Amino acid sequence: MNKLSVIVPVFNEAENIRPLCDKLMEVFRQQGISDHEILFVDDGSTDVSLEVIRELSATAKGVRGLSLTRNFGQQMALYAGMEHAKGDVVITMDADLQHPPGLIPELISAYRAGYDLVNTRRRDAPGTGFFKKASSRAFYRLMNFLSEVPIEAASSDFRLMSRRAVDAFLKMPERNRFTRGMVGWMGFPQTFVDYRAGIRQAGKSKYTLKKMMGFALDGITSFSARPLRLISLSGVVVFLLGMVYAVYAVVQHFLGHTVSGWTSLMVSVWILGGIQLLAIGLISEYILRIFAESKQRPHYLIREQTGG
Ligand code: UDP
Ligand code: MG
Repeated sequence: MNKLSVIVPVFNEAENIRPLCDKLMEVFRQQGISDHEILFVDDGSTDVSLEVIRELSATAKGVRGLSLTRNFGQQMALYAGMEHAKGDVVITMDADLQHPPGLIPELISAYRAGYDLVNTRRRDAPGTGFFKKASSRAFYRLMNFLSEVPIEAASSDFRLMSRRAVDAFLKMPERNRFTRGMVGWMGFPQTFVDYRAGIRQAGKSKYTLKKMMGFALDGITSFSARPLRLISLSGVVVFLLGMVYAVYAVVQHFLGHTVSGWTSLMVSVWILGGIQLLAIGLISEYILRIFAESKQRPHYLIREQTGG
């Protein structure tokens, strides 16, 4: 096979880097993959991850490090890694060994069978928390209701991409990068491989509730105009209901029925106020992202590069 790159985003994973590296090297050896690189992208870690990467890239053959100036988020770290990967085949995976290196041979044989994108589908690890499972399921259900591009539930950022898929991916300039949606959008031949997620090797999940919500909103706003259409639709419905109510009110007036007025006033003020606020909030989500795009800032900045 030609050159294989493995990209690993790292955010405070000091204890996981070496074990992952060892496992990967073992897989390379077993598979007879001699031309390979492991590219660790340090996403502004505050622990000793960067030192570990520096050390490894100085001593181990084919290990490279890329360090971003601050925490740009996993999706940006993946993008940075893809821009710097030299492989003809690129695999992205998490640092915490939840993505089993043992699956790599299967990914490669799917690539050999002609797929540009070999995605993976997670079957939950026995220890996965209820909240994580439930929120993930709800998210993908909502995503697929809203999105124009189908997004596989339980998909992860453990995937193999051919060189031409990586090049195409890098041509997508947006800042708001929901990788698992974007790769499907490209339309190259793709397939899925199932795996059982391992238990995190060390440390805690780096996805706080806040990060997960940001990720979910990025996904929804970058892959769907349907929320905006729903707002327009609800506007039409509310307007029509208002018209009917207006006719009713006028008729009541001419029939001489006195209406106390307070209830209907309060109800309409609150309902309409609520709908308007919701609508404005949603629109602002899109505007925020247009704003971010219009600034045309670089996607990330590099602090240092080691090895290779
Ligand atoms: N990660 C990152 N930047 C972040 C958050 C996470 O590079 O801001 C990395 C993290 O080090 C790991 C991968 O992204 O390699 C997935 O994160 P994690 O395992 O914490 O997510 P979970 O498996 O809990 O969804
Ligand atoms: Mg994990």
